[in-house]
Amino acid sequence: MGISKTITVMGATGSIGQSALALVRQFPEAFSIHALVAGSDVNGLAALVREFRPKIIGIGDATKLDHLHKAVGGIRIEIVGGVEACSKIAAMPVDIVVAGIVGIAGLPSVLAAVQAGQTIALANKEALVSAGGLVMAEAERCGAHILPVDSEHNAVFQCWQGWEGYLGRQVNQVDTMALSHICLTASGGPFLETPLEHLPKMTPQQAVQHPNWVMGQKISVDSATMMNKGLEVIEAFWLFDLRPDQIEVLIHPQQAVHGMVYFRDGSILAQLAGTDMRTPISYALAWPDRLHWTSERLDLAAMGQLTFASVDTRRFPSFALARQALCVGGAAPAVLNAANEVAVAAFLKEKIGFDQIPTIVETVLGQSATLQINHLDAAMEIDADARQLALEAVTKNRSFFLPLTR
Ligand code: NAD
Ligand code: MG
Repeated sequence: MGISKTITVMGATGSIGQSALALVRQFPEAFSIHALVAGSDVNGLAALVREFRPKIIGIGDATKLDHLHKAVGGIRIEIVGGVEACSKIAAMPVDIVVAGIVGIAGLPSVLAAVQAGQTIALANKEALVSAGGLVMAEAERCGAHILPVDSEHNAVFQCWQGWEGYLGRQVNQVDTMALSHICLTASGGPFLETPLEHLPKMTPQQAVQHPNWVMGQKISVDSATMMNKGLEVIEAFWLFDLRPDQIEVLIHPQQAVHGMVYFRDGSILAQLAGTDMRTPISYALAWPDRLHWTSERLDLAAMGQLTFASVDTRRFPSFALARQALCVGGAAPAVLNAANEVAVAAFLKEKIGFDQIPTIVETVLGQSATLQINHLDAAMEIDADARQLALEAVTKNRSFFLPLTR
């Protein structure tokens, strides 16, 4: 196969990190791990150190450094802690940086990797939602490649690139004149059929039970509200340099088709695959080649039918809020993202009800400024301010919310 790449995995202990490392485990001759970074899971990270023997590791929560040193024991390895140190790891030259940190916490390292001109397998959509203009401008300036790992964007990348037949360009520099629009599909999440009047009572346990995918908690709740698809529309806006009206979303509960590219001449290219994140990660890791492994076969005959429907924004108001934030522009998507992160965390801790997630996001979004985000500090400041407003909104909403007795 001839692939020989060094890899850094940011968010190594998470769902995306584990899927990426499963491929590294399967292809030890193709990939070697340079560095691993996690947020606070000391034992998970230490176990990965014993298996993959990276040269350096980082832990986002610097208070865990001593614990990490002890857990890693006698292995000779550099260990660092804190946001800045982890960003420096992302900037160390390697063939691929997997950006698998969840939330705005991933932005500093994504930007550091971009500014170091790295090739980045990007799962951390929140980095593009909050600071897409900055990240893409820096990628252009520094010659970084951003390869989408999010399954829908990876699908569009595969369709668009397959047609373009040229593998050396930035994803957003292909011939846009031939294109009409793209489509990202959505499963609709666990509450697609739930009677609307029951939605307020849905618990965190129910919300994270995704019908098709096994993912981290935050993105699972985002899938239940469909904020995830809203964030993905914003992600696609930046990745593919399209107008908002060129990004369509269809509910497709079978999740066989992940993304489509519609050309003006009437042709539509679609990418189909099973619901295994190793497929898009594998494509990004091996790009411009493909890894030779056999995933579970997508059995279309057994599925029988593939259905598509448009999004009902009464059921999924979060999706409408994300589109609204994209159209407002400036800092609005960053504010949306911050408010959503706070609201989702509060929901997972049973401080607010499921239906209050969009209420909080809408309240905070209404107070957002139309500032442009031109550097990391501005992005982090806007994020911190919006978080503060969201926390206040959580406290207010909490007084209306009676925890559920189960
Ligand atoms: P997860 O919660 O399973 O894992 C998150 C990882 O980030 C963990 O390793 C955690 O330790 C690390 N982390 C958190 N805060 C950190 C910090 N401050 N510093 C360093 N590391 C930190 O999340 P996930 O489901 O793997 O999602 C990761 C990203 O990928 C998200 O942006 C998500 O939207 C995106 N994504 C995930 C999937 C999926 O199938 N899981 C699919 C598409 C996109
Ligand atoms: Mg996705």
